[in-house]
Amino acid sequence: MLMPAALPLSALENAAEFLPRHIGIDAADEAHMLSVIGEASRRALIDSIVPRSIARSRAMDLPAPATEAAALAELKALAAKNQVLKSFIGQGYYGTHTPGVILRNILENPAWYTAYTPYQAEISQGRMEALVNFQTMVCDLTAMPIANASMLDEATAAAEAMTLAKRSVKSKSHRFVVAGDAHPQTIEVIQTRAAPLGIEVVLANSAEEWNALLAGDYFAVLAQYPATSGRIDDLRADVEQAHARQAAFIVAADLLALTLITPPGEWGADIVVGTTQRFGMPMGAGGPHAAYMACRDEYKRSLPGRLVGVSVDVHGKPAYRLALQTREQHIRREKATSNICTAQVLPAVIASMYAVYHGPQGLTRIAQRVAAYTAILAQGLKALGAPVREQATFDTLSLHTQDATQAIAARAVSLGANLRVYFGEYLCISLDETTTRADVELLWKVFAKDGQALPSFADFEKGVAPLIPAALCRTSGFLAHPVFNTHHSETGMLRYIRQLSDKDLALDRSMIPLGSCTMKLNATSEMIPITWPEFAQVHPFAPADQLEGYRLLDEQLRAWLCQATGYAGISLQPNAGSQGEYAGLLAIKAYHAAQGQGHRNICLIPSSAHGTNPASAQMAGLQVVVTKCDENGNVDLADLKAHCEKHSENLACVMITYPSTHGVFETQVKELCQLVHQHGGRVYVDGANMNALVGVAAPGEFGGDVSHLNLHKTFCIPHGGGGPGVGPVCVVEDLVPYLPGLPGQDSQPQAPASGKVGPVSAAPLGNAAVLPISWMYIRMMGAEGLQAATETAILSANYISARLKDHYPTLYASANGHVAHECILDLRGLKETSGVMAEDVAKRLIDYGFHAPTLSFPVPNTLMVEPTESETLFELDRFIDAMIAIREEIRQIEGGALPQDDNPLKNAPHTAESLLAGEWSRPYTRETAAYPVAALRQAKYWSPVGRVDNVYGDRNLFCSCVPVSELA
Ligand SMILES: *Cc1c(COP(=O)(O)O)cnc(C)c1O
Repeated sequence: MLMPAALPLSALENAAEFLPRHIGIDAADEAHMLSVIGEASRRALIDSIVPRSIARSRAMDLPAPATEAAALAELKALAAKNQVLKSFIGQGYYGTHTPGVILRNILENPAWYTAYTPYQAEISQGRMEALVNFQTMVCDLTAMPIANASMLDEATAAAEAMTLAKRSVKSKSHRFVVAGDAHPQTIEVIQTRAAPLGIEVVLANSAEEWNALLAGDYFAVLAQYPATSGRIDDLRADVEQAHARQAAFIVAADLLALTLITPPGEWGADIVVGTTQRFGMPMGAGGPHAAYMACRDEYKRSLPGRLVGVSVDVHGKPAYRLALQTREQHIRREKATSNICTAQVLPAVIASMYAVYHGPQGLTRIAQRVAAYTAILAQGLKALGAPVREQATFDTLSLHTQDATQAIAARAVSLGANLRVYFGEYLCISLDETTTRADVELLWKVFAKDGQALPSFADFEKGVAPLIPAALCRTSGFLAHPVFNTHHSETGMLRYIRQLSDKDLALDRSMIPLGSCTMKLNATSEMIPITWPEFAQVHPFAPADQLEGYRLLDEQLRAWLCQATGYAGISLQPNAGSQGEYAGLLAIKAYHAAQGQGHRNICLIPSSAHGTNPASAQMAGLQVVVTKCDENGNVDLADLKAHCEKHSENLACVMITYPSTHGVFETQVKELCQLVHQHGGRVYVDGANMNALVGVAAPGEFGGDVSHLNLHKTFCIPHGGGGPGVGPVCVVEDLVPYLPGLPGQDSQPQAPASGKVGPVSAAPLGNAAVLPISWMYIRMMGAEGLQAATETAILSANYISARLKDHYPTLYASANGHVAHECILDLRGLKETSGVMAEDVAKRLIDYGFHAPTLSFPVPNTLMVEPTESETLFELDRFIDAMIAIREEIRQIEGGALPQDDNPLKNAPHTAESLLAGEWSRPYTRETAAYPVAALRQAKYWSPVGRVDNVYGDRNLFCSCVPVSELA
């Protein structure tokens, strides 16, 4: 009889390994790919690519990899160290019910969260419709004519409003007046942002100061509506004063309150900003949430962030695309008005869907209940003798509790509730959608003296009028478009969400080979923890002892990222790569100032840099000087040297990307760093390409002083259709004191201590709630796994480059013909021979079921391909075969078999409707149009619109929901 063999436990335990789930290439695939490239082993390949001079001195010191189940259990235990109390803190963060149909079908659905920013309009119609709904929602609620498709958070939105006003108004003043009762974190981020631009921020800490300041000189003012204390002021006269001084009036407004109170657009506001968090996004210890910005029509051409507009496709049908400068903002570089790239698309989609689901009546009812409970709470508290201040309010009460403040707050905590301590002697209580009768009774209990009888809801059954004065009640309607009045049943909502996501291509359908964007696996196990209540339902300013889980998450993740980068200190606060760049440059500036070298203000940036680099540098008050690249795409060291010498006295830093945006490991990077250091400058290494470095080389070791990471690229946070992201800023030892400060720690906004850098985001941990994703990734991969991921990403890029070399030459390679983790395919010659542009290939790929590679960045008329380690060989080959088939189509044009202006590329993408049109007069068949390769007959993606006309849309700018009559 055959006995089962004993197997070593390690073999059995490996079966649950995460590594082969993340990396799509197995040993046999690897051997095949190496043979195509012509290298003997992965080791040999990597050694021939990564310069020896920068190789890591030692392996990363990380915990041994855990299985998915074990990592989830470990993280659950860590999460359990957060205490989830009922939050009444307010201050911009409120409880909200994420409708289950939105939670499951958007927030937890890869069709939405793995999508990329909608640069390829034809495959992004679903998410752009959701974003147009978002813009319409913001316009309607604020009563402003135009709104963008999300900002990073309310505080940075307010800071961007300040600079938008600065460049838009006639006033030449440099003074910015801010109401002292704006949210403290907003004031602090404004202070951080204002300083390098020479803007003087003046706080009005009382009504007298406010009135005196408004009578003076300034280019703009900002008021919070309702104020952070809950008070609602009538600001009409103030707006008129500001306008009389040619200054702008900025309002930070609460969208839920605006369903009941007069919207700022109706009393003359010029810019309105705020958060949409309470429209269905959990507090998540501070983010991610979509902030919004709306402005007057005259400002629209300098509106920061992305704007989705309606245009038409080649068939004349309405179609969405990114409008105006938002397509090209990176091209504007140091002239860019904002550095926002990754924004908050997924949270914006969720907020828009919350409005679609509830509709105008539903939102109003939610707000009315909040306002009624607030009024009831106030009556009950007064009956108990609590010191409630008389004020017009929507959802927040303020109590002058004086010496009893801390004791009452502690009593609330013991009963499971967090109140907000305000200026040491006040308590603020904010109610929200989740507040129940039991919560109101609990709040009464907090204030009741021993033996005092509690008020009873029975006395309030007939209702209590909200504490909103008649003069400030909203009378205008909003959200009249059918989309907000149709999908109110769950069935209807489910189908609307599905209908939109079916229009789009995300990672759940095919690879997205976008160079510089690192569209890798966002594993389900990494995503699961983000909606755990222990992470999702906590307030960013809850008492520190309730946030122990987040503290540990922050500490561990920073330690691991220090291992990965070789840096000494990290802050996870920046909520996008651009924000990390900005924080890093501020650190460099503060360092120089501390050395008595505050005059150093020159920032050298090679011409190949990503547009956010120069944009961030100008925001940091640095003067950008562009340096050359040589014909191989490398930084021209001679030119850089000349600039270093020329600017030696004033050199602040050099910003490079490594490996370069040209997809090459430059061999002289160490020399470059030394050169910059010799001239007293610091080296900023843009870490967006860390997927080519982790485990192989560390910027903090080879000469970098500062880097930002993109956790939404290298460390598996999904792109969400254009955000959220996390852009940690990493620094060497002597720059650690200049990492960003913590916002909102006190009710009194803190200007940064002298020599320190203030906060760059509204919340201490920025987009805290998505940090578990990167934690899970590192925890499950371990040091060797992460290194294998890097090496496989490089292997896959080289495989694509090698297989395509006879069809599309790779533009830049190292001396031995190899590339880093991405390759630029040179299509520039095709224009001459066939009239085909890179864009035509990008659009034709849609017919083959693929999202295009990065188009025309960093070199015009090229495609930059980054496969990542997560794609399987099957998918890589499918992509390569599609590219080769398209090249054959181009050869037919070159040979004259197809005309240059009427061929499958120029007419791509082909919609089903256009193929079914009665007459078919193209010089190629319908089959060629739709099914150029046989496999497409099994699984076909149909573009919902034909090629979108960008110019038409910009000439006829329209950024709200399309009237139904036009869709017919
Ligand atoms: C993505 C990217 C950035 C900007 O990062 P965001 O998170 O989008 O702000 C900066 N530099 C490079 C090279 C990038 O690829």
